[in-house]
Amino acid sequence: MSNAKTESVTLHLLPPLPYADNALDPVISAHTISFHYGKHHKAYVDNLNKLIAGTEFAGMKLEKIITETAGKADKAAIFNNAAQAWNHTFYWNSLKPNGGGEPPAALKQKIEASFISVDACKKELAATAMSQFGSGWAWLVLDGGKLKVVKTSNADLPLTKGMKPLLTIDVWEHAYYLDYQNRRPDYLSAVIEKAINWNFAADNLK
Ligand code: MN
Repeated sequence: MSNAKTESVTLHLLPPLPYADNALDPVISAHTISFHYGKHHKAYVDNLNKLIAGTEFAGMKLEKIITETAGKADKAAIFNNAAQAWNHTFYWNSLKPNGGGEPPAALKQKIEASFISVDACKKELAATAMSQFGSGWAWLVLDGGKLKVVKTSNADLPLTKGMKPLLTIDVWEHAYYLDYQNRRPDYLSAVIEKAINWNFAADNLK
């Protein structure tokens, strides 16, 4: 009884979506969210719990599991599921209903210092997300005091490279295929113009 209780406490949980499943429509439909959050994201969390049960990683914080398993070939399955669990929570928070628009002043100033303009930053974010061959992520990060746009493949993320992520866009096909089919540029421009959560990025900058 006490064992069962302890185990349940250490399980990683699928965090609730920060908005209703139809709140990003038409940028991202409830149909996409139902699969992306309800199936894909949930599967990463469930798989992680199964993979770490009874191992040294059971009860460890998600970020710690990620940094402890990064780059270790024999821990790739744990890393992939832990990183994808983390990436997806970060992605949901990187979006919001009626997003886009102007970043908050402190972030805007930082963007202008690194990219010249918010438009240039958005263009680089879209171009980088487009240039990711196959599955992966595009990120706005803080790296050595400057803002940068970077991309990562599959489950990989800036945390393992000493960079602080501010926001991300999922460019795995499951993120856009139901709504946009192969039109990744249309997904990216809709997300960047209408759903990106600059407030979340600004909070991560603090
Ligand atoms: Mn995804």
